[in-house]
Amino acid sequence: MKSKVYFIPVKDSENNLSACVELKRLLEKSRVLDVVGKENKVAVKIHFGEKGNTGFVRPEFARLVCDSITAKGAIPYLTDTNTLYRGRRTNSKDHIEMAREHGFTKDSTGARIIIPDDSKKDDTIEVKIKGKAIRSAKVARFFIDADAIIAVSHFKGHILTGFGGALKNIGMGCAMREGKLTQHCDASPVFYEEKCKGCGACEAICPAGAIHVENGKASLDKSKCIGCAECIAACPAAAMFIDFGVGSAVQEKMVEYAAAVLRGKRGRLGFLNFAVRIHQECDCWGEETPRIAPDIGIFASNDPVAIDKASFDLIKEVCRKDVFKEAHPGQDGMIQLKYAESLGLGSLDYDLVSL
Ligand code: SF4
Ligand code: SF4
Repeated sequence: MKSKVYFIPVKDSENNLSACVELKRLLEKSRVLDVVGKENKVAVKIHFGEKGNTGFVRPEFARLVCDSITAKGAIPYLTDTNTLYRGRRTNSKDHIEMAREHGFTKDSTGARIIIPDDSKKDDTIEVKIKGKAIRSAKVARFFIDADAIIAVSHFKGHILTGFGGALKNIGMGCAMREGKLTQHCDASPVFYEEKCKGCGACEAICPAGAIHVENGKASLDKSKCIGCAECIAACPAAAMFIDFGVGSAVQEKMVEYAAAVLRGKRGRLGFLNFAVRIHQECDCWGEETPRIAPDIGIFASNDPVAIDKASFDLIKEVCRKDVFKEAHPGQDGMIQLKYAESLGLGSLDYDLVSL
């Protein structure tokens, strides 16, 4: 059965005034938030952006989503989990401060910000699933306990998954650190020693102490590597490089995590994809990576597979090429969508309704 995906064209601007008017119209016409009931506790899953990154969904958009939820008599919470790698969102306290620096506060968004704490045992729950790779998903309890989940996702490129949208926001983004590690752990880079110039950039950036540079050459200890891919980005000689063979494994594990989070929540899920500021890399990068497509607009649906497929398709149509494949030639983001459909998370078949 075809899923409905609603769309409004929107361009990024400094204050997003006209985009906010359009988003309000999208929320009203698509009725994607009708899944929210009175007095529901609603997890609004968002990414607050790493320091130096500008791709994240803006707080003014989060405000409109949260206000719409509040107007239904429900309680919205803006929420995300901490990162695997060392950065400004590694622990809950710094993460909330990073969100504040990017403009997300209770006053500005109308919602409390909740960041589950990896050091608190009760903040994690293990969800048993029968995935190819995942049998027990370690996810933030907050999402499992929520009455409804609204995923507010930035659609952009990703070094390991080709592109990232709703499925990535849920699958990777609702996992606690241990779960993120499980998803990444096969994703160590490959090291081409003959290309290495011994500059030390990889050693300096590696958050896991997995790289040591001596006598003009790096060495990589894969047993310590957490698969964050920072060294791949940092290496000027492409000596640390992505292991293209693992892309499908990461995507499948990510989708299995999404299945664990969304299980039992059918009819209580809403998704918004923001295809503006479409960067080559995800919002976790501590810098602005090149924009690979023009601003397209905002999508809304109750189906996470259909909304990601529609976002991908329209970007490809407007650009007349697959910009994600061009940016990440070794990755095929369709793997996540096809696998998610096979697990019953949604449909690749959709009707796009332009509003
Ligand atoms: S991917 Fe690279 S930077 Fe990240 S932990 Fe592994 S070796 Fe270190
Ligand atoms: S960043 Fe690249 S070139 Fe520099 S030491 Fe590391 S592997 Fe070698």
